[in-house]
Amino acid sequence: MTDSLARRLTCIDCGAAHPLAYLLQCERCHGLLELTYDLDRLRRDGPAIFTGTGLWRYAPVLPIADPAHRVTLGEGGTPLLDCPRLARDLGVRRVLVKFDGSNPTGTVKDRSSATAVGAALQFGYRATSVVSSGNAGSSIAAYAARAGLRSLIFAYERASAPKLLHMAATTADLIIYKGVYDDLITLWDRLVEEKLFFDCGASRNAYKQEGKKTLAYEIAEQTAWVPPDVIVAPVAVGETFIAMLRGFREMREAGWIPRVPRMVAAQATRANAIARAFREGTAITPLKIGYTVAEGLAAGNPGKKGDWVLRLLREEKGLAGDAEDEEILDAQRRLARTEGVWAGPTGVATLAVLIRLLARRQLEPAQTICVIISETGLKTEAEVPSRVGAAFDYDSLRRLVTERLPAK
Ligand SMILES: *Cc1c(COP(=O)(O)O)cnc(C)c1O
Ligand SMILES: [Zn+2]
Repeated sequence: MTDSLARRLTCIDCGAAHPLAYLLQCERCHGLLELTYDLDRLRRDGPAIFTGTGLWRYAPVLPIADPAHRVTLGEGGTPLLDCPRLARDLGVRRVLVKFDGSNPTGTVKDRSSATAVGAALQFGYRATSVVSSGNAGSSIAAYAARAGLRSLIFAYERASAPKLLHMAATTADLIIYKGVYDDLITLWDRLVEEKLFFDCGASRNAYKQEGKKTLAYEIAEQTAWVPPDVIVAPVAVGETFIAMLRGFREMREAGWIPRVPRMVAAQATRANAIARAFREGTAITPLKIGYTVAEGLAAGNPGKKGDWVLRLLREEKGLAGDAEDEEILDAQRRLARTEGVWAGPTGVATLAVLIRLLARRQLEPAQTICVIISETGLKTEAEVPSRVGAAFDYDSLRRLVTERLPAK
């Protein structure tokens, strides 16, 4: 197995290089840090450097050095589904769905939890913590348990029942907080400084974010190193978006792929600080937000990560959009009916945004468009169909079947 090719942490603002320590910001200018790798080695060895399956197949481009710290529940290696019926429905040449709902806790968060908890082991921590609307909490709790670490999970009071059940099952320390993510995260981020626990939050930790980069590597490999023209990715704070774009840039620099796909940042209209700033050509103004069905995207103040997303969107000529809750629920039904993929509202906001951008002719339909569907539908609540049961005898049963399925 190839070692990690991570070499240093680099400041995204001033470029200062730092050693591979547990550092959350640049020591010179307090900017965010990103991991940099031995790209010459990637160029020389090519994709044959990857061995094994799942997320840790990509260990050479992840920052966890010791294989003993590579905690796993079987994450990654999720399907990239060619969706011709959905493509026809949307009037797009080709649509690919990257279904990350098939991860162990049902969301994309398992990618970052694997490297977050791996990094907690790497730096000798015994406890982790996270502030979550539900998905990060259930994922970090599961990975911490798997690694034998404690997890102090702060969960949104409006998190759906399946998420709360999941968290209560996997951690002994579940704390429900009042208000939304933004109300607690600044206070919690201050506690991170005191090193009472390992930072499994989304604001700063480069090691945690890095796991989500494997989405880009998987998509590239699943398309034989000719990635789709466009990728629509969900954005709450921006980890998924930033990590994916970094992955594609690494592969382009290593000469593995001809170009970086055009990246579209998808948000819920009720938490659209980044999409709005992009549209208006301004800096981000933090929003006071309420509830959105896309619970996992409910962040009104994406902080420095949000600024980073905006910068990347402008550098790479990306696109940003948002969709209202009703559009998200409509996209959820449409995906389930046309392709059998049952996604949660957070996970399907990308498709709703794609539908809107196509309707407004902001995206060209004669392309291959990949949508990241980041959450299974099994983790959220919705209105349940009527439970009033019917009693049948043979005749009434036969009548029903022949009515519903008339003979050809
Ligand atoms: C957290 C989350 C996201 C995106 O969050 P980022 O912080 O922007 O990476 C997307 N989908 C789901 C299901 C999530 O839980
Ligand atoms: Zn700096």
